[in-house]
Parts: sequence; C-alpha cells; structure tokens
Amino acid sequence: MRGRVMRLSGRKCLVEAQGKDWQCDVSGRLKNGIRHATSPVVVGDWVDFSPTVEAGQGVIKAVHPRTTKFSRLAVTARPYEQVVAANLELLVVMVAARNPTLSTGFVDRAVVMALKGGLEPVVCINKADLDPERQTGDVALLYRRLGYQVFYTSALNNEGIDQLGSLLKDRLSLIVGHSGVGKSSLLNRLEPGLDIQTKALMKRHDRGQHTTAAVQLHALSQGGYVADTPGVKELQMWQVGRHQLIDYFTDLAAVATGCHFRNCIHLHEPSCQVRGAVEAELVALSRYEGYCRILQSLD
Ligand code: GDP
Ligand code: ZN
Repeated sequence: MRGRVMRLSGRKCLVEAQGKDWQCDVSGRLKNGIRHATSPVVVGDWVDFSPTVEAGQGVIKAVHPRTTKFSRLAVTARPYEQVVAANLELLVVMVAARNPTLSTGFVDRAVVMALKGGLEPVVCINKADLDPERQTGDVALLYRRLGYQVFYTSALNNEGIDQLGSLLKDRLSLIVGHSGVGKSSLLNRLEPGLDIQTKALMKRHDRGQHTTAAVQLHALSQGGYVADTPGVKELQMWQVGRHQLIDYFTDLAAVATGCHFRNCIHLHEPSCQVRGAVEAELVALSRYEGYCRILQSLD
C-alpha cells in the first residue's frame, strides 16, 4: 500500500492511506541503509508499506523520492543533517511585530533554508494588533521587494487569518518561528479544534514514545496540511558552503557578480561590490548583516 507519513515520533510513523491511519514501523533494511541517528522516513514522505497481521499496523518498505526537503543541522557529538519534513511546498516564516522583537536575522536564515530545500518562503508577521502604526512596515516592504509574500496576521483580532488560510489551502506547509511569536495561537485560529485533535492523536500514537521531537502534519478542513516544528528551536544551517551562501541572498547575489575577486565572500576583500552596494544603500544593511551572521556560523 502507498501512503503519506503524517507523524513521526521516535521510531513510529503514522501513515495515512486511503483515508485511514496506519501505525507503521520502518523495515530493518531501510534503517540499515542510514548510518547517522537520522530517520530514513520523515513527515511528508510518500511510502510503500505492507500491512501486518495486527489491524491498522504495517511495516514501511520503501520511501519515494522527495521533491523538496527541509533540513537543519542537528547538533550532537557528530553533527548530521536532520530532515525535518519532505515534499512540502511552503515555508511560513513566522515572526511577531513585537513581543518578541522582530528579528530579520531569523527571517534571513529561514529564507535561505527554504530556498535550499526547494520550498517557497512566505513571511508572516503576527501580533499585527500590537503594531497598528506599522512600525515594521519597512521589514514587510523589504521582503516583498525581494519577491516573497508578506502577511500581517493577528491571532487576537483575526486580522489576516482568511488570507493566510487561502494561502495554505490545498498545499503542504511548514511553520517555523521562535517560541512566543504565536504559532500555536494562529494554528488554532485557522483550524479551531486542531489542538484537541492533536492531543487525541498524540495519546494514541505516542504511547511509550518520546514525544519531544515529534513533527506532525495537521490536516486542514479546507484542504491542505500544515506542520509545525515543536522542539526545533534553533534553525542551524545544514551544509551551505561559504561560497554558496550568497546565492540564497538573491539581492546580494545580483551585485556580487561585479566583485573584483571571483572567490570573494564579501567580508573584507577589496573592491567588493556587495559592500559597495550596502554603503551606497542599494541593498538593505540588515540583509548584509544577516548574511555575515550566517557566514560566521558556518565556520
Ligand atoms: P508559540 O510559542 O509560537 O506557539 O506562541 P503562542 O501561540 O503560545 O503565543 C505566545 C503568546 O503570544 C501567548 O500569550 C499568546 O496569547 C500571545 N499571542 C499569540 N498571537 C497573538 C496575537 O496575534 N496578538 C497578541 N497581542 N498576542 C498574541
Ligand atoms: Zn564581494
């Protein structure tokens, strides 16, 4: 049978096939193919599985090729690529207009990771009710100019919820954002009852499992699925080469073609067109700072 992995916790997968939930283990052969502590099967994967004698249970035998993947660097004794979810279309990068303070550094980082994995980044500025004067308007404009959709939402007064809802309709999305920006509040606005459903499902699925790293795709009644990332606090970058990073900053990359040195990483090199463009205010300083901060983290 063929189905999609909806939830992963520990070594157990919840697979949806023909409108039913299946509890699946991963076959030993698939597990052996992978050396690191990462799972061969992730949320969003299309898999082939064989039902076992017990009702509603199965064993995953094969994983279909992924169209996109969202990965982060798992920081352990031996760092490895942790694929958080596969086959997603949208990355909703969530920040708050205030409380906590809007961090463009986080947005820049998340956009790079989206582009690297093949997802479309979308910026959602929540807690719009706390910023009636739109003091964050310049940030919204910055990312719109880069070609990304930017939404203002409020889980408090429902502003922008319909807009966000139509964006997510019939698509597979992942929401990332620092703790406290309102991810859970917003999801519950979008889909009242989601919290209750999630808890019921967790109880059935997680018996005796560690639940901390569980990632789940939530079905939206209007169509589509959305995942959040509990426990993925830090978005450490997975394998972006020092010379590739600039390609994911499309605004900086456009001017970088004129740099004097072909291997310029745009920090201290003479005749660097990126630094020149920042000084001439042709590109946003915050974007250059975001680039530099990520570059340093890659050392
Ligand atoms: P999460 O950690 O990203 O899931 O954030 P939560 O959904 O738990 O929200 C964190 C806090 O912000 C809670 O106290 C919410 O009530 C509050 N909050 C969430 N969304 C909004 C909003 O749109 N406006 C305001 N003023 N507060 C919000
Ligand atoms: Zn340069």
